[in-house]
Amino acid sequence: MFGHATQTVFGEGPADAEIMIVGEQPGDQEDREGRPFIGPAGEVLNSALNSAQLDRETLYLTNAVKHFKWTPSGDNKARVHKKASGEEMHACKPWLEGEIARVKPKVILALGATAGTAVLGRLPKISSERGKIIEGHGLAPKIILSWHPAAILRSSTENEKRQRLQQLAADVELAKNSL
Ligand code: URA
Repeated sequence: MFGHATQTVFGEGPADAEIMIVGEQPGDQEDREGRPFIGPAGEVLNSALNSAQLDRETLYLTNAVKHFKWTPSGDNKARVHKKASGEEMHACKPWLEGEIARVKPKVILALGATAGTAVLGRLPKISSERGKIIEGHGLAPKIILSWHPAAILRSSTENEKRQRLQQLAADVELAKNSL
């Protein structure tokens, strides 16, 4: 239900941010308030930023896809996130490219496969490609891939969740130290 999004959610942050973080698409709360990463996934991201001692206010935060795509839950009480299609990602690509052209980040931290695909131009495997600086490919001089916060929340065990969160924090720190 892509057409049922409340509004377009663009990125936010300083126009001269050195680090840009790209997610998949706004979630339920982001759709209501028109700002990226302010719901449960945003809380996970904030905790990784805190661990890495990186001030959120210095970052440009955005998404590969600018609308919340959802389907009603069985009881119709909730709006359940639906993964954006390749077509939707391509439709939104000019907006993402416009943000990147304006901000000119030195490094992009792409969270999850959809963000990774949008900035790298190919589908990455997050589990094996995260945590490295990728140079000379894609939409910024340096690209780092990491877990999407929602994938962290969906971890199958507490142990896996803790490990992925630590890895996200380490990848945020890598982005900070790569400047
Ligand atoms: N998930 C994302 O990928 N982006 C947001 O802004 C919120 C949740």
